[in-house]
Amino acid sequence: MQVRDWISAGAGRWIAILGCGALLVGAVMWALRDPSSVEKRAILKRGRRVLFYCRACEATGMLKGVRFDDHGPYKCPQCGKKEAVMGIRCYNCGNVIERQNKPVYYCPCGFKYESIAGGGEPPAQ
Ligand SMILES: [Zn+2]
Ligand SMILES: [Zn+2]
Repeated sequence: MQVRDWISAGAGRWIAILGCGALLVGAVMWALRDPSSVEKRAILKRGRRVLFYCRACEATGMLKGVRFDDHGPYKCPQCGKKEAVMGIRCYNCGNVIERQNKPVYYCPCGFKYESIAGGGEPPAQ
């Protein structure tokens, strides 16, 4: 019989599995101790700053601590309504206007904006 071989093969397999597990745990521990990933998590926790424009009361300003996956609308710090959307500061007149999901939109002052995230179509000239 080759019971001995079978046991050693079985044991070898378990050692291999445990070894892989230890490697995996080690990799995770290493990743958690990696300062850049700690920094990344801190940044994720801190959130980002968003320039907002409130559609309800027309307030503008910076929102702090916005989650990276939160694309609004946000709660307006001035009127408390959930009408604050991402804004952009107009290069021409300096007012903050609503950032729109259209390929082309205009500031009330007439300045034309062509959105880069405008559905993949080339902006019409
Ligand atoms: Zn408001
Ligand atoms: Zn403008």
